[in-house]
Amino acid sequence: MNDTATVLLLIALQQGLFALGWWVTGRWLGLTRLVALQWAGAALAFAAGLGLILQRGALPPVLTWFAANLLVLLAFVLIRRGVQVFLRIRVTDVEHAALLALDGVLLTIGLYAEHPTWAVICISIPIAWTLLRAAFESHRRLVADDAIAAARTVAAPLALLGITFAARAVLGAWVPELAARPLHEPSGFNTGIAMAFMMGGLVINMVLALLVVARMVRRLRQRSLRDALTGLLNRRALAPLLRREVGRLRRYGETFAVLMVDVDHFKRINDSFGHAAGDAALVELARLMREAARDVDHIVRMGGEEFCLLLPHTDLEGALRLGTRLREVVRNADESARVPMTVSVGVAIAQSIAEPAHAVIARADAALYRAKAAGRDRVVLAEPSAASGLQAA
Ligand code: GH3
Ligand code: MG
Ligand code: MG
Repeated sequence: MNDTATVLLLIALQQGLFALGWWVTGRWLGLTRLVALQWAGAALAFAAGLGLILQRGALPPVLTWFAANLLVLLAFVLIRRGVQVFLRIRVTDVEHAALLALDGVLLTIGLYAEHPTWAVICISIPIAWTLLRAAFESHRRLVADDAIAAARTVAAPLALLGITFAARAVLGAWVPELAARPLHEPSGFNTGIAMAFMMGGLVINMVLALLVVARMVRRLRQRSLRDALTGLLNRRALAPLLRREVGRLRRYGETFAVLMVDVDHFKRINDSFGHAAGDAALVELARLMREAARDVDHIVRMGGEEFCLLLPHTDLEGALRLGTRLREVVRNADESARVPMTVSVGVAIAQSIAEPAHAVIARADAALYRAKAAGRDRVVLAEPSAASGLQAA
């Protein structure tokens, strides 16, 4: 066996392993079955196509030429389609079908024309097209999802491979002697192409794996910052948000407000209506808070029946207005709701650049306790920060 044939055989084996890997990922590692099957299918189609190319001379050209090239193109189409499903991009099945059909026609012509350059062009161009389109649409999608790093990591290798195939087509048309030997026969150009196929296969599968891992990490991170019952942010999410607000206060003098909200006599609600009704009341309260707050406000479940609202770019008047409105909607929801409920609210405004974030929270908390002590179902404003003299503009 010559160099080129050896490399092709290695690629076929490599692709077989990739197929196994995707199948395992779909079966046990949580990748959508449909996507895993398409990428596994792509690897198998690629391996089968190369396997057929290796049989040139031994098998009829319909298999080693027509079927082989279509299988290789199908592999790239399946990769793109898997990416489309995975990233929830519109699946372009009409385009895929048209591309495969057109290539089928071109290959059929090639079957009779038997011009070697024809082979290089009518397989490389559709592959280049598929890769470049995949690069473009995945980039656009990931950028829209705010995953800029992932967008580059995925699109750049796909685009680079696409350009390589386009270059191969141009080179094959320009310098036919280079492409004059069928792919399985020894020639420097062919060995180079085979190596490129090998690296390309490796890179594509790594890119796909990266895509899967990146999304898994993103999901886990999102989940780790949410409360399972109410879907609100949890305590872990609060620290970085507070840091950001303190930063804005120090840099731009932008005041922010913190509201601590605690359900009154929640233990009684649990005792009289049951724990499940208590849970439902918390979910309902979360909904009321979302409705009352602005989009830019952060609503955090601190634990139990205690919540913290972080209000960026908000002054005393705005914070009191929200606190009062919240108290009122909860109290008024009372009449229709299965579970009557009231809340106490402590309000603190951060306007001193010397006051650390935890001190703002502590002031809001102290105000909340005073609201409780004063009879509950009320909004109490915290004492101003003790950090003196350093009032922001
Ligand atoms: P106060 O007006 O002083 O705030 O009285 P309270 O009864 O609300 O205060 P306390 O902190 O003593 O009780 C809170 C109760 O909230 C106790 C706990 O059983 C209940 N609780 C905490 N988390 C959950 C939850 O996720 N679901 C339900 N149903 N109850 C919870
Ligand atoms: Mg309570
Ligand atoms: Mg409490």
